[in-house]
Amino acid sequence: MQVFQELDLVRTYVSEQKNGHSVGLVPTMGALHDGHRALLKASKQDNDVTICSIYVNPTQFNDPADLEKYPRTLKEDLELLESMDCDVVFCPSDQIMYPQAKSSVVQLDFGQLDKVLEGHYRPGHFSGVGVVVAKLLNMIQPHRAYFGQKDLQQLAIIRKLVQDFFMPVEIISVPIVREASGLALSSRNQWLSTEEKQQASQLYQALLLAKQLYDGGVKAAAARKQAVQQLDQHPDIRLEYLEAVDPISFRSVKDDGQTEAVAFCVAAYVGEVRLIDNILITGY
Ligand code: AMP
Repeated sequence: MQVFQELDLVRTYVSEQKNGHSVGLVPTMGALHDGHRALLKASKQDNDVTICSIYVNPTQFNDPADLEKYPRTLKEDLELLESMDCDVVFCPSDQIMYPQAKSSVVQLDFGQLDKVLEGHYRPGHFSGVGVVVAKLLNMIQPHRAYFGQKDLQQLAIIRKLVQDFFMPVEIISVPIVREASGLALSSRNQWLSTEEKQQASQLYQALLLAKQLYDGGVKAAAARKQAVQQLDQHPDIRLEYLEAVDPISFRSVKDDGQTEAVAFCVAAYVGEVRLIDNILITGY
């Protein structure tokens, strides 16, 4: 496994490898877990060469304290990647990713998509995501790039970015990997106590309830309401939102009938840890 920090080196290596071979990129912020492993597995299955990037991107953190305490476990990450036969790891510094002054970093506006749900609660987050993903895709120029459905709104943002800028890359989405309790794996879960993990699994239970109701013919808004009521019975969960949206436009699903694809998306605090999760109903 080759590990690169410099752009020139990774570019030269990748362009040599690309000669007739397909390249898959798995962008991550490290603190790798089985969710990331699923992305790597998918890339390894589809491509001749798999590159994992590890970079904790400062521009997508709207809370400096959150950036400061984000887990950084490079040694363990490299061991995991080595054990998975990952071909290349790219772990650039801030200086390489953002050589310009912070105030002059490009801002991206995704319209409605970055105004709701995560975009509403984390202003500037998706601009930072769009910028770093655009940088990584231009730096590596992979044939395919892999993202988890865990960050469903991020996936919609990236699809729009790639489409609007005619980027020659295929975006592949990978289903959410969960613990046996249903809790979606996340690098932030390591901050949860055993008891909090148990409480956090209620988020998935609420999403499942919404899905069951919706599948049974209940309208999205009513299904959403019952899921919220179920979560309200758990005082340890501080709900930010639980909404039914179109998984591509992220417009709210109105009560005037069932649409083809619906995603129930949730964000909540358990203790001090902010968690997100979602469930997809059809299509997409
Ligand atoms: P992160 O390191 O949190 O930025 O995540 C890197 C990639 O892994 C993103 O595309 C995430 O959506 C994906 N990911 C994170 N957790 C999971 C999970 N539990 N299941 C599937 N993909 C995930």
